Amino acid sequence: MNSRAVSSGTVVATQCDYERDGRQFGYLDIPSSRNESAWGVIRFPVCVIRNGEGPTVLFTGGNHGDECEGPIALQKLARTLSPEDIRGRVIILPALNYPAVRSGTRVSPIDGVNMNRAFPGKRDGTLSQLLAHYVTTVLLPMCDVVVDLHSGGKTMQFHPFACIHKLEDEALQARSRDLLLAFGAPISLVLEEIDNGGMLDTTVEESGKLFLAAEIGGGGTATAASVAIAERGVRNVLRHLGMLPAASACPAAAASGRSILDTSAAGAYLHSNHEGLFEMLADLGQEVRAGDAVAQVHSLTEPDAEPVVYRSRHDGLVIGRHFPGLIKQGDFLALIASPLKAGSGG
Ligand code: ZN
Repeated sequence: MNSRAVSSGTVVATQCDYERDGRQFGYLDIPSSRNESAWGVIRFPVCVIRNGEGPTVLFTGGNHGDECEGPIALQKLARTLSPEDIRGRVIILPALNYPAVRSGTRVSPIDGVNMNRAFPGKRDGTLSQLLAHYVTTVLLPMCDVVVDLHSGGKTMQFHPFACIHKLEDEALQARSRDLLLAFGAPISLVLEEIDNGGMLDTTVEESGKLFLAAEIGGGGTATAASVAIAERGVRNVLRHLGMLPAASACPAAAASGRSILDTSAAGAYLHSNHEGLFEMLADLGQEVRAGDAVAQVHSLTEPDAEPVVYRSRHDGLVIGRHFPGLIKQGDFLALIASPLKAGSGG
């Protein structure tokens, strides 16, 4: 018999018992009555691994369906993390926007919703909003920490980074910073979002819980290196929280150093005002100075026209780029991070 969390009013049902020790693979079933399946549900995979008392961590991947490292690393974690080895509880949603992951698209093909703009969700909303509502009202109250693994998807690529946001609560900020460094991504970043409305990040942060995101790789695929960063990162988080023995080696954290970058500088985000062939002039991970060329756009209709050059507005490191070979007006073009200034979030 599936259990529904009646008190919170969710319509999402699961056979997983979050209080039971051991490993459980199951589903979050969301009613989806449709032409092809009158009394059907959509089944979102979930794994619960628990061993007695301790912190609870929620790991999510596939918030956007064209981002592969999270689902791959988290399914591997779900299969390989032994309940006996941990203290506390790990809840894994490898495909937060499951229909989008199945179709390899950023947003859900069922309701057209971007899951990371659907939070805190709606009890009477669309499929994605129902799932977001379940995460907010049922899972989040159980959790101490939420880690959400992203990548660039089909349209972006990143120099792999883990990130937190600037928070009002100084104590929470300090704990977030420690978690950020513990993850051990090549870059640790305080990210300024273009718009943080509707994000899982914002919902978790406003609840006073610890939140960490990562942007690893991109291009709609994964590499051996990018998956390894995600796999190391999630286990480093468990070690940092005392849920796995700290004695085990933590090479990524040691290699990444302790410096933190941020994206609060004016013009950190570059957007294209032109349509055409896209050429990077400074690759990911490259340092640039203010005024340096980052990329240029070649006209497709006027081959004799000089390309339009886009320049960095400040000194920094290229950590994000548009991925496809063609670019349009309004597309994200590049992200330039700079060293974190004192008092700005780290
Ligand atoms: Zn994403």
